[in-house]
Amino acid sequence: MPRFEPHPDRRPVLIAGASSGIGAATAEALSELGHPVALGARRVEQCEALASKIVSNGGEAFAHHLDVADTGSVDAFVTAAETALGAAEIVVSGAGDLSFSQIHEMDPDHFLRQVDVHLVGVQRLVHRVIPGMIARQRGDFVIISSDTAGNPRPRMGAYPAAKSAVETMAQQMWMELEGTGVRASLVRPGPTMTGMGLDTTAEVIGPVLEDWSKWGFARHPEMLRAANLASAIVAVVSAPRGAHIAVTEVQPEARVQATAAGSNR
Ligand code: NDP
Repeated sequence: MPRFEPHPDRRPVLIAGASSGIGAATAEALSELGHPVALGARRVEQCEALASKIVSNGGEAFAHHLDVADTGSVDAFVTAAETALGAAEIVVSGAGDLSFSQIHEMDPDHFLRQVDVHLVGVQRLVHRVIPGMIARQRGDFVIISSDTAGNPRPRMGAYPAAKSAVETMAQQMWMELEGTGVRASLVRPGPTMTGMGLDTTAEVIGPVLEDWSKWGFARHPEMLRAANLASAIVAVVSAPRGAHIAVTEVQPEARVQATAAGSNR
């Protein structure tokens, strides 16, 4: 008798924040492994376009509107996704956005909206999905955090505080889920080239980069690709039963420097 029932080959995946960036890349990577994927975001038309692409490549995909700041929307997304694809085996919680600001300059309502998406939005999904996973005695809940959790940078508004809070929430979940068969995992990206922060202006980003450099951040200019994070998430959820990859941090590798002889072998 094995210590754990192995994971089924077909594991329905729910992705919050699947309309672009890391969520979209993760949807493609997990569908290539044969898992059906439910794509949720506010820009549902982007999710529908990605679902069509996945289906035309031979995968199974479903798109539905999702706003993680709205409990009713989370419920509607999960219900529709599970009806279409089956009970959730894997959830990737990656919805998020970023507003650059100093704390004392950020409107408190705006600060609250950021916390609502990055912390409470994750808890809304946890509350909706984890009880079913506990009943089935298995499941992977992946929270996309940030390397700013516990390591804030100036001018990032509520983002580092909210990401730190979500990591504390995950640590509490590990204790509460111990022995249930459900694995909650944190994946912490470093700087990644996605839609995040791209809607900013030169006037805003200039002082941000100046302050980051002053405080020792942005040591080199390389950035990760969304596919790099998708690979990390695939590794986390593909760990066999009996192993739990609880925290994964992915950083861009610095460009290899030329040697004195002029080669960079
Ligand atoms: P993108 O902007 O490319 O993707 C963010 C996704 O979140 C989009 O699909 C967006 O869709 C969705 N989203 C935003 N708000 C909501 C909401 N209220 N409800 C549902 N979906 C929402 O950025 P990334 O791929 O980079 O971001 C993914 C995760 O990675 C985020 O949690 C981010 O904090 C984290 N991260 C990113 C880093 C980076 O350098 N890019 C570094 C560290 C962490 P839509 O607008 O259609 O709703």
